[in-house]
Amino acid sequence: MKHNCILFTLLFSATSISARNYYMSVDGDDGNDGTITSPFKSLSHAQSIVIPGDTVFIRGGRYVISESEIMKDDGLYARVFDLSKSGTDRDRICYWGYPGERPVFDLSHVKPEERRVSVFYVTGSYLHFKNFEIIGTQVTIKGHTQSECVSARGGSNNIFEHLAMHDGMAIGYYQKEGSDNLVLNCDAYNNYDDYSEGPKGGNVDGFGGHLSKEYFTGNVFRGCRAWWNSDDGFDLINCKASFTIENCYSFYNGYKPGTKNPAGDGTGFKAGGYGMSDNPKVPSEIPMHVVRNCLAFYNKNKGFYSNHHLGGIMWINNTGYMNPSNFCMLNRISADVKEDTDGYGHLIKHNLSFAPRMSEKHIVDVNYDLCEIENNSFFSDEINISANDFVSLDVDLMMVERGKDGCLPDIDFLKAKSESKAAQYNMGYSCEQASDNAGL
Ligand code: CA
Ligand code: CA
Repeated sequence: MKHNCILFTLLFSATSISARNYYMSVDGDDGNDGTITSPFKSLSHAQSIVIPGDTVFIRGGRYVISESEIMKDDGLYARVFDLSKSGTDRDRICYWGYPGERPVFDLSHVKPEERRVSVFYVTGSYLHFKNFEIIGTQVTIKGHTQSECVSARGGSNNIFEHLAMHDGMAIGYYQKEGSDNLVLNCDAYNNYDDYSEGPKGGNVDGFGGHLSKEYFTGNVFRGCRAWWNSDDGFDLINCKASFTIENCYSFYNGYKPGTKNPAGDGTGFKAGGYGMSDNPKVPSEIPMHVVRNCLAFYNKNKGFYSNHHLGGIMWINNTGYMNPSNFCMLNRISADVKEDTDGYGHLIKHNLSFAPRMSEKHIVDVNYDLCEIENNSFFSDEINISANDFVSLDVDLMMVERGKDGCLPDIDFLKAKSESKAAQYNMGYSCEQASDNAGL
């Protein structure tokens, strides 16, 4: 698996011969020439200089951002870093934390009145963001609102890699527009908005894919972890094109960070749906999202949830553990008939459920005749999963440091022992696959 990570880095490091490296640092100056000994100060200035093929290396340290650095106010969002310049298909523009260091953007002082905060507002394409953290993002609006650490707002073919968005009031990654974006090996955790709409935190998801057009295809969450976000871990409500979520972990969502005190919705993987309004914005063709090789553990609400979707979802090789119900396939009859019904059209294969918090709720609200169902632990009399089937149930493993280059750590949590029927029948998520970046 490490080989894949290295291969991936090599592939995407290759740029044209004329490519230049620039540097920025906490004590840099935008009057400098941007070399490693004379680094820039701001991302805004760095963007104004780069051309396709260039890389901006961000040196380690804490970048405490002030309101005066907000690049653009569009009336709704204060775009702190407005990333609008594009690379090309041959030559990306890269914004990378310097290897071996880990820059942190601290947004705790950015509190624009009556504006949503977007820290990285990305409309450019062929960009590669890698290896940095965003902390302390604020919410300043009392009514219905949200802030976002990373907003994918129209750019395509971007890579967001090894980022951590945490300890703020904002959604980690939020996408409405754009195609073929890859969110790879990112973490969103300890995010809770206790200001807007009361202290519920009902809009703060770890990762949101809410594509506004049917043609925004090819977007992927891979190798990402979401925990202690006050709403959902992963949320695909109101998503008009198929989104893929693979090799991702979602746990402790729907609780106030660090506690089991309830906050927002708390679904591990909310993989669809269009809300229950009178005029839901339903696409002409209902997308079949893909959720595979994922792990949902101890979320406040369901582990894997189709959320009243209007069609099937592909659920493959997932593991649910200690959610109230691990898998909930609830659908709506149609856009016009606003009634729920047992899930139809789902592909449910090779999934594993163990110890749901509500007795025997391994999978609920499913129409067996109208789904394609194969080789899951919960539909087999032969497979009686017990704690004995697993190498480890040590939950702390879920939060251990990532490996080199941000790959998911190779952990034993909920890994089926080789002698277990779960392993023999290839059920549930697999750590072996979890860091596989091949196929890009
Ligand atoms: Ca919510
Ligand atoms: Ca949500």
